[in-house]
Amino acid sequence: MITKELLQKYAELIVRTGANVQPGQVVQLAIPVEQHAFAGIITEECYKAGARKVNVDWMSDTLSRMDFLYADTEVLSEVLPWQEAKMQQMVEDLPCRIVILSDDPDALAGVDPQKISSVMQSRSKVMKPYRNAIDGKHQWLVAGYPSEKWASKCFPDDPNAVEKLWEAILTTVRVREDNDPVAEWKAHVEFLNKKMDWLNEQAFTSLRYKSANGTDFTVDLIPGAKWEGAGNTNPKNGVFYIPNLPTEEIFTSPLAGKCDGRLVSVKPLSWNSQLIEDFEITFADGMAVSCNARKGQELLEQMLQMDEGAAMLGEVALVPKESPVNQCGFLFYETLFDENACCHFALGAGFKEVLPGGDELSTEEAKEQGINDSIIHVDFMVGADDLSIDGVRADGSTTAIFRNGTWA
Ligand code: ZN
Repeated sequence: MITKELLQKYAELIVRTGANVQPGQVVQLAIPVEQHAFAGIITEECYKAGARKVNVDWMSDTLSRMDFLYADTEVLSEVLPWQEAKMQQMVEDLPCRIVILSDDPDALAGVDPQKISSVMQSRSKVMKPYRNAIDGKHQWLVAGYPSEKWASKCFPDDPNAVEKLWEAILTTVRVREDNDPVAEWKAHVEFLNKKMDWLNEQAFTSLRYKSANGTDFTVDLIPGAKWEGAGNTNPKNGVFYIPNLPTEEIFTSPLAGKCDGRLVSVKPLSWNSQLIEDFEITFADGMAVSCNARKGQELLEQMLQMDEGAAMLGEVALVPKESPVNQCGFLFYETLFDENACCHFALGAGFKEVLPGGDELSTEEAKEQGINDSIIHVDFMVGADDLSIDGVRADGSTTAIFRNGTWA
């Protein structure tokens, strides 16, 4: 049962360890309106941590769905001047952002995917420069909170669905009645950092993936680009924060346009409230050239055609199969959790922060150095139980990184 004490512990972890709110900071909290009680707990915790002001953006899946069902594409595509002004304000304030996900995975089910894509494309044309301007320059955090709709998607027809999803979420973020989550996170971050440091020392120039399911793939890495782990440091104030609760991955951005072979997905992919299942993507010269899905073929094709960068890779991430998310054994229908289940790639935008001095680079400059750019960033899982990954160095020597789905 979720108790007041557990909720409080979770809120503290989010504010103190995750976002690491500092005295005098402005906090921008985005949370679904249904979770107003939790918004209160988070807000109070932020003020206790010394926040100057906590501003809340109320979200609603129900209302977003109505927008898509009833409003015209042109109307939804328009970014109003006050919305732009708000983004501009964020660029200036660089607030600490906390996002609580409590989605209904089916919120957009039945909405014309073309309409969603078109709205997304138009809006992000206007919003992207602002996002780029705050990227890597402020503390932020994303964490989950079960809603009834989300829970019943994970556990259909189960009267205890919400409780089960709570249990799973708290397991993945290491919050229990009898533990000290802060200490456990410290140890977890140290473990991830050790793996990250090792990968950075090895200076692999490419990775080779192989699995019995047909995955046979080589991807080049950007020389000098860093592998990143659990946390980031806010370059403006030197504050360490953990942007994702949970997080199990070590990741970097591969060299866009340099990969070849076949990747076979091991878990369904939920995109725009629709599932793509049992799929594989074949790459040649860095671009997805064909794809095959038992379910959601059209959707997958549409995703790969969102823009020029949508068919190229933006992320390569290593997650051992023992991850607590994987141990939960069900699909969360939420990337924040599902991407921490096992090894994955992302199609679309890469992370310029992995380049030396990357925070200061423009998107164009980062692109010249091999960081992919796109309006999408969609993770898909390839971490089969028998997956092996070898690292290859510039001199041709190789070292085992993963064997049988876990660190070699
Ligand atoms: Zn990832």
